[in-house]
Amino acid sequence: MGKYNITLIPGDGIGPEIVGEAVKILDAVSAKYSVGFNYTKILMGGCSIDEYGVPLTDEALETAKKSDAVLLGAVGGNTDTSPWYRLPPERRPEAGLLAIRKGLGLYANLRPALLFDELRASCPLKESVGEKGFDFVIMRELTGGLYFGDRYTVVENGKRKAVDTLTYTEDEIRRIAVRAFEIARKRRGKVTSVDKANVLDSSRLWRAVTAEVAKDYPDVELSNMLVDNCAMQIVKDPAQFDVILTENMFGDILSDEASMVTGSLGMLSSASLGAGKFGLYEPSHGSAPDIAGKNEANPIATIMSAAMLLRYSFDMNDAADDIENAVKKVLKSGYRTGDIYSDGTKKCTCTEMGDLIKENL
Ligand code: NAD
Repeated sequence: MGKYNITLIPGDGIGPEIVGEAVKILDAVSAKYSVGFNYTKILMGGCSIDEYGVPLTDEALETAKKSDAVLLGAVGGNTDTSPWYRLPPERRPEAGLLAIRKGLGLYANLRPALLFDELRASCPLKESVGEKGFDFVIMRELTGGLYFGDRYTVVENGKRKAVDTLTYTEDEIRRIAVRAFEIARKRRGKVTSVDKANVLDSSRLWRAVTAEVAKDYPDVELSNMLVDNCAMQIVKDPAQFDVILTENMFGDILSDEASMVTGSLGMLSSASLGAGKFGLYEPSHGSAPDIAGKNEANPIATIMSAAMLLRYSFDMNDAADDIENAVKKVLKSGYRTGDIYSDGTKKCTCTEMGDLIKENL
């Protein structure tokens, strides 16, 4: 029997509730596929501040490093009332997130934008676009580009001037392009590389290196798109995309746009990927302190994150498909947590949603 080590970070707010439901599903997968999952829990965020005075200890990071993958709930509390937010920024809950991403060398962020058939009504796009549905992922470079380049402000001839530098090396581009092509192979075999090659040198290098990588993936179709056009196409015809590959700042903007067009925050998963098969998987939403402890949270984003973990870190595609299909079946049968509830559907709690998905595996 294969065995994998998974680090669990329940975190704060609704984190422990939604991670608990995802573990329920992973346990069911373990039984069905005869695979062993060893879980090790670590503290991160506000709960770690309360226990150790810092949002992430070195020991916790070491535990995560030694595992095969990490599943995270969410960290943070009410930013107006929680004493955590009276601490200096580097000791606040969210500093744990930055520390773990850096410590684990995560250089790629993968965010799916999937419109479930049953939730088409919540899609804010034109009805004809929503009806067609869409299912794509954005692969965003996380450690290079404008956010990490040299920056300074000077005064020249009595006027202030600010400079930010956008740098990419071919190695940085190649390693993320390879990840995007690998992921496209597990999906519908299409990569759209997004850049601004009509203006930027870094984009022209991005395009050249991506084309070189494509030669090793003759089964994957590569096309290029300018970022301004891509921002329009996500709204106009999102069904055309499978994997969007892009640099840090473009990805930052496009992935928020892509989240919005699905219309349901509690449904969106995400992954941050590092070397080899290692990844950290988490829902796109925060710790929702307003509903913490009430058994009202939607666990689907975390359960879908667990499905991504199985697909991308453990190559368990069938198990990931099973989870995604079980989620679709439960939605089809009309069950909804409060955040996605509408007239005519059946309201259920966080734990009930987890149980229903488990029953449908
Ligand atoms: P949030 O995503 O936590 O909540 C926004 C709204 O969506 C709230 O009304 C909440 O109840 C609802 N919501 C979110 N997830 C839900 C779910 N699974 N089911 C049902 N409803 C859900 O964003 P926020 O309120 O701006 O932030 C709260 C805290 O989370 C802050 O401390 C923030 O810093 C932190 N945060 C953490 C992460 C992370 O851990 N990766 C990401 C974003 C925000």
